Amino acid sequence: MQPDSSTRRHPTHPVHIGGVIVGGDAPVVVQSMTNTDTADVEQTARQVAELARAGSELVRITVNSEEAAAAVPRIRERLDALGVDTPLIGDFHFNGHKLLGRYPACAEALAKYRINPGNVGRGRKRDEQFAAMIESACRYQKPVRIGVNWGSLDQALVTRLMDDNKRRSEPLDSDALIRHAMVSSALDNARHAETLGLAADRIVLSVKMSGVQDLIAVYRELASRCHYALHLGLTEAGMGIRGIVASTAALAVLLQEGIGDTIRVSLTPEPGAERSEEVRVAQEILQSMGLRSFTPDVVACPGCGRTSSDYFQRLAQDIQAYLRERMPEWRNRYPGVEGMTVAVMGCVVNGPGESKQANIGISLPGSGERPVAPVYVDGEKSVTLKGEHIAEEFQQLVAAYVEKTYAAR
Ligand code: SF4
Repeated sequence: MQPDSSTRRHPTHPVHIGGVIVGGDAPVVVQSMTNTDTADVEQTARQVAELARAGSELVRITVNSEEAAAAVPRIRERLDALGVDTPLIGDFHFNGHKLLGRYPACAEALAKYRINPGNVGRGRKRDEQFAAMIESACRYQKPVRIGVNWGSLDQALVTRLMDDNKRRSEPLDSDALIRHAMVSSALDNARHAETLGLAADRIVLSVKMSGVQDLIAVYRELASRCHYALHLGLTEAGMGIRGIVASTAALAVLLQEGIGDTIRVSLTPEPGAERSEEVRVAQEILQSMGLRSFTPDVVACPGCGRTSSDYFQRLAQDIQAYLRERMPEWRNRYPGVEGMTVAVMGCVVNGPGESKQANIGISLPGSGERPVAPVYVDGEKSVTLKGEHIAEEFQQLVAAYVEKTYAAR
């Protein structure tokens, strides 16, 4: 289903980041960030490749030291040698002006710089250091994300706005004042960057907060006041279900209003979990809203008292994992396969109906039903599977369907 007219995008300038376009009419881009020590070339390149393989279209790495800055061009070379062309974004705080000046190969290898205006410096030095970073962006023709973060908001700006607020006939409450300060910081710094020579179509803005309602409010205000490309993300979303639900709740509201050109889901990984989980969550948000397709959809019923065992849940999980695993190869070989739907249903009550709506679907036997599993292909009953190897045989049928239906002609 196509998104309705309420998801028509808020008009923004298209920003070219390496070979990826963020903003304008381009689809909403998925990005992520590494958590390795950037100075460790091998480990960082490996994680960037893993995130790219999962579908991250841009990957940000922290550039926090001389060693990290020196490693950046080597990470780029390593990725190129691996055939990974995903653009790298450098995340700078406190010393970015020095690192970009001293390490020209780093400045060149990055496709975009992220600047946090709250962490650029204090007093007069702040303006000089911000200007030095924007000059590097102009010299190397790179776009910049001006990324304001709730946890590191420019305190001088907050003090000034608080003083102004006291003089208002109807002062803002403290939450509204902070939101106003976040938006003002982003817009003031973006306009300052433009006066320093950075074009509007080289600027991306973000204003990240950790509260869902706060995030929605600041992005609505930002979208109403500018046409810079917007990067969405709930900062410090948290772990597991909490982080996924909070990010989804915030991003879905904004995306539905057409706000947002690129998204990142900032999950704290569970110990030992893959970093690429945040990429899959971002893709699922966009896919479930009908904004983009990344992986075939698996439609599965929740199961109920008619389900004879957890066999169908495992089958649904296995098929989902199989499709994800094959997608990096299928994406190139079988154009359009990402729009396929596979149904895995627990009994005949809704199984055949749902299977007929899918490209390919299976309906497993519920309790008291004959131990057979009818398979439907393009709405027609195709075969009936039975015995010990239903899962393997269904997987083979899915692979054969993909080959027959989506092979490039
Ligand atoms: S399809 Fe069958 S097993 Fe699944 S939820 Fe519906 S009635 Fe229950």
